[in-house]
Parts: sequence; C-alpha cells; structure tokens
Amino acid sequence: MSNLRFSAVKAAISRPKTAAQEFAVEKASSFFAKNVFTIAKMKDYMPKNVYQELLDVIDAGEAIDLDLAEHVSQAMKSWAISNGATHYTHWFQPLTGATAEKHDAFFEPGADGVAIEKFTAGALVQQEPDASSFPNGGIRNTFEARGYTGWDPSSPAFLYETGAGKTLCIPTVFLSYTGEALDYKAPLLKTLNALDKAAVDVANYFDKSITKVFASLGIEQEYFLVDLALYNARPDLQITGRTLFGHMAAKGQQLEDHYFGAIPERVLAFMSDLEVEALKLGIPLKTRHNEVAPSQFECAPMFEEINLAIDHNQLLMNLMEQVALRHNFKVLLHEKPYADINGSGKHNNWSLITNTGVNLLSPGKTPKNNLMFLTFFVNTIRAVYEHADLLRASIATASNDHRLGANEAPPAIISIFLGSQLNDVLDEIETARVAKKVKAETQLWHGIPKIPTLQLDNTDRNRTSPFAFTGNKFEFRAVGSSANSASPMTVLNAIVAEQLIKFKTEVDKQIKKGTKKDLALLNVVRKYIKESKAIRFEGNGYSQEWEEEAAKRGLSNIKTTPKALDVYVSEKTEDMFAELGIMSKREGEARHEILLENYYKKIQIEARVYGELVNSVIAPAAFTYQNQLIENVKGLKDLGLKGTAYNAQIDLIERISRHVNEILENAEAMRQERKKANILEDTREKAIAYDEKVKPYFDKIRYHINKVEQIVDDSKWPLPKLRELLFVR
Ligand code: ADP
Ligand code: MG
Repeated sequence: MSNLRFSAVKAAISRPKTAAQEFAVEKASSFFAKNVFTIAKMKDYMPKNVYQELLDVIDAGEAIDLDLAEHVSQAMKSWAISNGATHYTHWFQPLTGATAEKHDAFFEPGADGVAIEKFTAGALVQQEPDASSFPNGGIRNTFEARGYTGWDPSSPAFLYETGAGKTLCIPTVFLSYTGEALDYKAPLLKTLNALDKAAVDVANYFDKSITKVFASLGIEQEYFLVDLALYNARPDLQITGRTLFGHMAAKGQQLEDHYFGAIPERVLAFMSDLEVEALKLGIPLKTRHNEVAPSQFECAPMFEEINLAIDHNQLLMNLMEQVALRHNFKVLLHEKPYADINGSGKHNNWSLITNTGVNLLSPGKTPKNNLMFLTFFVNTIRAVYEHADLLRASIATASNDHRLGANEAPPAIISIFLGSQLNDVLDEIETARVAKKVKAETQLWHGIPKIPTLQLDNTDRNRTSPFAFTGNKFEFRAVGSSANSASPMTVLNAIVAEQLIKFKTEVDKQIKKGTKKDLALLNVVRKYIKESKAIRFEGNGYSQEWEEEAAKRGLSNIKTTPKALDVYVSEKTEDMFAELGIMSKREGEARHEILLENYYKKIQIEARVYGELVNSVIAPAAFTYQNQLIENVKGLKDLGLKGTAYNAQIDLIERISRHVNEILENAEAMRQERKKANILEDTREKAIAYDEKVKPYFDKIRYHINKVEQIVDDSKWPLPKLRELLFVR
C-alpha cells in the first residue's frame, strides 16, 4: 500500500522551480484597477449631463435615485459585457465570515426567441437571494426567510476573473426582510455616518473648513503557505484549517532566520501573481515579506477609505486562495495553523482623515495643531479604555482563541502602547498647571508641549501590544488573520464616535460657563488622560507580570470567546449602538447568537476530526509499529538472547501502549462531553460547555499523539509531519 504522506512529499519536492503564470512585465500603473468600474470609467458610458449629475450626488453624499441608478446599471452592463463578463452578482459579506455571491446571467431569452443581454436598475439596486441558509440568529423565521441585498455605491463594482470566465460583482449590504442587518457591511456603513458627524463637530473647534471626516484603514495580512499535496494529505488542515497535532520540527523559528529573509522562489512567483491580480482589482498591494514563523508571510496594501479597504481585504483573501492554487500552494488564513510557532493576525492600521487632507492622528508642527491632534488621540484612547471589552469581543472567534495569549501573540487584555515620547507628553499635560484665566493665546499654549513630527522608528515599536500608536495611526494587532475587519472596525468607529460626542458636550458646557474654548478643550483632554490611564501599557504584553498588573488595574482579561461575547448584549453596548443608530437590540442579540453558534460549531468540528483521526489513523499506525517491535523481541528471544538485547524495545512497546491508551481514553471521554454539550438548548451554555468541557481534551490528545509520532518508524507514519509542512517548498 502506498503511503499518502510520501507521495505528497514527492509531489511537493518535484514542483517546477518557477510556476508564475503571469509575471508583471508591464508597469503596474498600466493595469491598475483595470477590472474596476471606477467613477472615471463611467464617463465613457454615460451621457455627459447624467455623469455630472452622478458626480454631484456623490459629492453631496446623497442617495442615488432609481432614474440615475438606471443610467449607472446600463453603463455598468456595457462596460462589463465589453470586458467579457457573462454574469453579474451581488457580492456580500454574511456573518459566516466568508463572502457570498449568487450569479445571474445577463443573457435573457426574449419573447420572440431573440435573446438579449439585460441588466436593469432594479437588478443593480436590490436583489432577493434565497438566503434561508445564512446565519441569522433567529431574526428570520423560516416562513419569512427572505433577505435582500442592497447596492453600496460607495464601493465600486468590479470584474472577478476565474478560469471559468468573468463575473461583474456589485458590493452590497445584506438585510433581512424586516430591514435588520445580517452582514458585516451594513453596521459598518452606519458607523461611518456617526463617526463623520461626531468628528466633524469636534474638528470644527479647530478648523471650520472641515466638512467631512473619514476613517482610513491599511490592513497587514499575515498568512502561511503550504504545498497543496501536503495539505491534502492532512485531513485536520483540510477540515479545520489548522494542524490538530504534530511534533514540532527540531528547527522552528528559534533562529529567527525567516523574518524578512530572502523570499523562496516559488513563493515569490505566487506573490508576484497575486500582486498582478490584486492591482487589476484596484487593491493597492504594496509590501510583501517573510514573517517570523517558517512558511509565514505577509502582504499589505496602501491604506484606503475604511469601507473600501475592508471590501478589498475580503476580496484579497479570495484572490490569495485562488492564485495560490495556481502555484500548487494552499493559503492558510487560520490564526494558528501550528501550535508551537507564531500565529497570524491582520493588523488594522486605523486613522481619521479630513476632506482637507489632514490626518487627525498626525502630530502637528505647531502647538495649536498639536491640540487638534491631542484631542483626537486622547479621545481614541479614552474610547478604547471605556469599551475595551467590546473591542476584545469584536475579535473573538474560535480560531483567534488559539492564537491570543499563545506563542508570540497579543494577549486577550486590551491595552494601548503609545511609545515613550507620547507617554511623556500625556504625563506632562496631566500634571502641568494651566492658569485658570488665560489672557493671551500664547500663554495657553504653554500648557501644551510641542510634539515634533514623529519618525516612524522601529526602535520605538512594541510588537507585544494589541493596540499600538505607530506615528500617525493606531494599529489594532489582535484582529485575527481570517477575520472580516468590519467586525472590529465597526466597534472602533462606534466607540470613537460616541466618545467624540461626549467630548463635545463636555467642552461646550465649559464654554457656555465662560471658559475660553482652547482652555475648555485642554481641560477635557486632561480629564480624559487621567481617566484612561489604566489602559496605557508600555511593557511586555506577553509576560506573566502584565497579566497580574492588568488584573490589579481592573482591566478585563477574558481568554475565551463564549464569555467575551457577553458584552455584545450588555446594556452599555446596546445603548451605545442604539443611540448612534448602528444596531438595534434585536440585531445585537442576533449577532451574539450567531457568533456563539459559530464558536461551538468550530470546536465541535475539531473534536470530531480528533475522534476520527485518532481511531482510524493514529492508533492503527501505532499498533503496526508496535507489532513489528513485538515480532522483533520474539525473534531475539528465539535466538536465545538475554534481556539486554531487547529491553529497549520492550520499553518502546510499553510506551506505545501507554500513549495510545491515553489517546483513546481521552478521545472517548471527550466524546462523552460532546454528547452532554449537544443536548444543551441554550446556545451560550452550549458554547461554554464546548469551551470548558470539550476543548481541554485537545491538548491532552495532542500531547500523546506527538509522543507516539516520535516513536513510530518514520516510514510507517501516515500523515505529513510538521517539518515537511513547514519546510518543503
Ligand atoms: P509595519 O509592518 O511597520 O506596521 P507596514 O508598512 O507593513 O508597517 O504597514 C502599515 C500599514 O499602515 C500600511 O497598510 C499603510 O498603508 C497603513 N497606513 C499608513 N498610514 C496610515 C493612515 N494614516 N491610516 C491608516 N493606515 C495607514
Ligand atoms: Mg504592523
């Protein structure tokens, strides 16, 4: 019988050296956004006056009416068809975490037997996908299973190419029949309005010409690559996205020789292809490099407006999978594919930018500009302090639980790193005495230290912080690599919006009482600095001491998802979302339910895969080798040899029995716990049972499998080993 592992290794090592199908021979600028229906392209497909009307509507931020939508749909159709598209789809982001699409052909048979290509405003603006099998958290009863998708004109339509052809994809929100959000995009878009309004109101203290503020986002995406044949020989990777066991290769990341090292040729071919595909879709991929762990890499686009950045990241994840297959790689977007080395995250670099082109989180050159910077900077810190647990919940998933708090990963405690310079600035403001009555403006500015333009200096970086200020933006690093960033960004936008509204109320109150505006601003900034001090931490976030210190400071440290999610249905959260018009109580509850369901199902699947592999793969491999040893011992005895000749084998035979017993007993005990968990009615209780009763068996089983793997004859071991998964490329 052939061993799947060895045929996989053979396939992996005999891949052709360079498999790039499409190296970027042309300049990137010549094909950038080639497959995007940009506003500029619409010009060629629309009457001049209609195009101008569209620009005006977009400029004013008004809704596009059906008349105008009809023009857009016709233009879109002409462009798409002339570029080879045969189908169109509403592209949306249900709470499964993946993206969804349902394709319809443009082609439509006419009454007289003559077929036409048809696409109307109705089809552009709204569709009713049969949505009954998307998670809805009880919002939809089966008798009203309709959901609908609605066009998001702020994210341009694009052509998605696969081997099978081209499809026009129209970014949409996904709502229930009764109008509740069933996706990630709808609440995100709502936060943008709330944030825009709140930030403009505050920015107007400093500059009346600011009429719009948008959030910017640059997402660094970490991932692993593994040869496709090896991946397919590991059922655990295939089904759960991570290895459930495997003894760590003797060489892991301890030599730190992978990080920023030379990119392997086959990987570089993949990256080049990916960049071409991404650029064609208008995704401004700019950087690529090796990451810390073997076979771990990262790519990052230039930052964009947040809604677009998130659409692009969702699209990028699809592209990565698709392009990797061309190179016989499988992309692992799981947060923790291998237990003993680094996991993967998605660093969300977030900032606020005005219509006048000012980055509100960029320290200014003059003291006055510094007060504007400090206002937004300190409000963000205050917001994160206030809702740290909600931010934690926004990144809570079964797969990210494996990563957070593990090897080289931000812990489940949310804290903020500012760097020594800004820390000093905040300390100075906190302690500085500012005169109550200030006559000349110059005197007031004494209270505000001058912050020199910060250099993006790697020496002042703290990789262990989940939420770090990096020069002109905050970087939320605890976001999982497979996550939809809309989840954490919806929360971040919302809490900062809420905070800015409170800030304005407090400042206005002081002004009304007669305090000079600038002093009032400074007073509230100083108050916020004091109130939010506990969230600031500059030390090693991975250390045990920090866990203890954080507990003393009263910061929460909820390690697992089911309980971390509770905050979604707390009064504080519900009130905030409702007041900002982002989510109703019912929507919050539905979301909570969906996330819990998703959690326990993921753990359930992992438990099943353990059960299956333990019984049908691991134990048989162990027994086969054990029998071989038994035969050998018998033979040695037959020859009349003494114990010294076979004691070592007997020891191995015993060890195999011991470990296999542990594996099988633990697997059975785990199965019993699953049975108990499965009958629980309440989703939260079920998720907690899976977390607290079922999951603890994983590590026990893993430990003993890894022991067996080290004993069994290498040629008899059926599954690719970690050293092969990590180093064959
Ligand atoms: P590092 O790995 O040092 O954190 P990278 O250059 O890999 O930095 O990624 C930084 C990301 O932050 C990029 O996507 C970049 O475009 C983005 N970024 C830079 N400035 C801003 C900003 N003002 N707002 C949002 N994102 C930003
Ligand atoms: Mg980074």
